[in-house]
Amino acid sequence: MRHGPDALLCEGCGYHLRGLTRADVCPECGRPILESLHSRRQGTPWQQRKSVGSWWRTAWLTVRHPRTFWDHVRLGEHDSTPAIANLLFSAGVIGISLAVIHTAAGVWGWRFIWLLTLLVISYSAVAILGITTCAWIEMAGCRIIGRVHKWRLLRGSILATVEHAVIGWAAMGIAVLVLLCVSALAGRLGFESVRDVAGYQSGYWLIASILAGLVSFETLVYLGLRRLKYANPPGSEAELAQSGISPDGADPAPDSAG
Ligand SMILES: [Zn+2]
Repeated sequence: MRHGPDALLCEGCGYHLRGLTRADVCPECGRPILESLHSRRQGTPWQQRKSVGSWWRTAWLTVRHPRTFWDHVRLGEHDSTPAIANLLFSAGVIGISLAVIHTAAGVWGWRFIWLLTLLVISYSAVAILGITTCAWIEMAGCRIIGRVHKWRLLRGSILATVEHAVIGWAAMGIAVLVLLCVSALAGRLGFESVRDVAGYQSGYWLIASILAGLVSFETLVYLGLRRLKYANPPGSEAELAQSGISPDGADPAPDSAG
């Protein structure tokens, strides 16, 4: 059975919790109902406060806890700033890495700095276009995944997932730099076949680094979707019956910030 976008579902198994109270557990899987309420999502550090530090903590949490991270994410509404911040960072890492690999051939002095700057800007611009296109395609893909698995994926869940997963593309830039170092080291140590495969003359590094970025991004998206497959929108708690636990006392709404 398909549930509407406002239905309060168990986030563990998708059971419709209508008519139960905050003190109950899910009759299907035993998960406490409090753990399925939207109000327990306090938001990622970046969603709570926009700063360089909070962006960094959010990016670190995404990579460090790719499964459980999504329990804190507030569903995306009209706030696309995580996507923009992650997009600029990932594109910057890719731009710098590609610029380094292309100027590593040995142009020094002012010409080197000028060329490097130009390449960083142009590669970053291409990366912004590429990552944005992939994110748009991914949004459509997420809806298909939801339909295939019969998940109730809200637009807000898909947005929040893709916006935070964009950080995975930074792996592409990191892979370029790692391959460059491997190539240089292999050249020094005399492993010429390794140097040739990893080196910037071969072109294999480009395929390897695109794969690294794509796999990181897709993995984060999939883990996010799995975790948010029955995530509830704000206001869905209205489906609960009144209970002995006061809504304010048991589950304080985080609206006193500022
Ligand atoms: Zn359940």
